[in-house]
Amino acid sequence: MSNDYDIIIVGAGMVGATLACALGQQGFRVAVVEAVQPDFNWPTDSIDQRVSAITCASQKIFESIGAWETMQAQRVSPYQEMRVWDATGNGAIHFDSADLGVPLLGHIVENRVTLFALHQQLEALDNITLLTPATITQLDISTDHAQVALDDGKVLTASLVVAADGSRSRLRELAGIETSGWSYHQHGVVAHITTSKTHQYTAWQRFMPDGPLAFLPLADGSSSIVWSTTPEHAEALLALDDAAFLDQLQSTFGDSLGRMLACGPRAAFPLRMQHAKAYTLPRLALLGDAAHTVHPLAGQGVNLGLADAASLAEVLVNARQQRQDIGAHKVLRRYERWRKGENLAMIATMDGFKRLFGSTKPVIKWVRNVGLGLTNSTTPVKNLIMRQAMGLEGDLSRLAKGQSLGGDQ
Ligand SMILES: Cc1cc2nc3c(=O)[nH]c(=O)nc-3n(C[C@H](O)[C@H](O)[C@H](O)COP(=O)(O)OP(=O)(O)OC[C@H]3O[C@@H](n4cnc5c(N)ncnc54)[C@H](O)[C@@H]3O)c2cc1C
Repeated sequence: MSNDYDIIIVGAGMVGATLACALGQQGFRVAVVEAVQPDFNWPTDSIDQRVSAITCASQKIFESIGAWETMQAQRVSPYQEMRVWDATGNGAIHFDSADLGVPLLGHIVENRVTLFALHQQLEALDNITLLTPATITQLDISTDHAQVALDDGKVLTASLVVAADGSRSRLRELAGIETSGWSYHQHGVVAHITTSKTHQYTAWQRFMPDGPLAFLPLADGSSSIVWSTTPEHAEALLALDDAAFLDQLQSTFGDSLGRMLACGPRAAFPLRMQHAKAYTLPRLALLGDAAHTVHPLAGQGVNLGLADAASLAEVLVNARQQRQDIGAHKVLRRYERWRKGENLAMIATMDGFKRLFGSTKPVIKWVRNVGLGLTNSTTPVKNLIMRQAMGLEGDLSRLAKGQSLGGDQ
């Protein structure tokens, strides 16, 4: 019996949609199941509450699958510098793309802009079937196929089913894959803020004992904030009127960007570290937030997921070239071995940062302020951190290097 599809991807967020584009462009027959029908009709003068720092490696992935041009035409905001400082001392660090001889460190992009560009690419591919709004209700894995049932009664079969359905992945749950992790006891408050000084193409981050406060530069000169703080404080911040909120923001951040003039709607997201105990089973793979979530303090979450998508696509294309079964566990384990180590290293780094900057112990405060100063004055270390933040270190996929998946470049 032949399967309906080669691959079923559950979840068409930034990660699932990227994987679908990469595989669809390679001729795989792909079904994408997405719970929320995307709505791309937003007022042109509005800015999405959710933005992401997109690394240079992720930009290359978007370029490779043809989405970057649409993203640029919509709105992306380059940043050239990052300034990080500790509110409880004088430790500070300044990263500048000029030190690496490159024009920028990355871009801040509204999540809906990225999704719009990816969906434009998906719609152009006849071998992709987007099923939305639809969710999965059942998973059955047998020796030669995976089968999923949808809430509208449809049943789909494929050689491989992929979970890209986010941190509370239903597919991961149906597959019985457990996660480990813990709450950071912080919520991330997000909002769009207008300041009297423009951002100077700089991402700013001030570390407070309750969590970091980041100002990310937007294309119109304003900034998008991620204010990580205790759940109680986050709730109180959401309840304030705009003027009182801006007052608190001003006193917490200081005057590096002048006066806080206006803010858009606010929202808060609970922050958790979570890691799936396995990324693969026979005929099943997890990626993106379904496999791992990290603290947003270094803006790496979706970038790790995009790296997963590019690596999985490469493994599957290679397997097909070698006439191997793309759902075989030994094939999928190549993806798991490739990505698990890199993701765990980032999780550990983010966790270490969170603990280091969250401590009020005098000795730790001293260590981090001295450490920031030393790192700032040690060019090779600083450059390595910058290259890591840009996604340029580690075992990069062909797409992240700007090469085609067919390996013909
Ligand atoms: C405050 C905050 C700031 C952040 N800032 C950054 C940043 O600057 N840079 C960065 O790299 N990362 C950042 N992140 C992390 C980033 O947002 C996530 O890592 C990223 O969104 C994960 O993408 P994903 O596609 O894996 O999952 P999601 O974005 O969660 O997408 C999952 C998709 O699956 C769909 N879905 C869910 N369940 C089902 C189902 N049962 N059936 C079908 N479809 C389903 C959902 O509708 C959704 O479309 C931030 C996170 C937070 C909370």
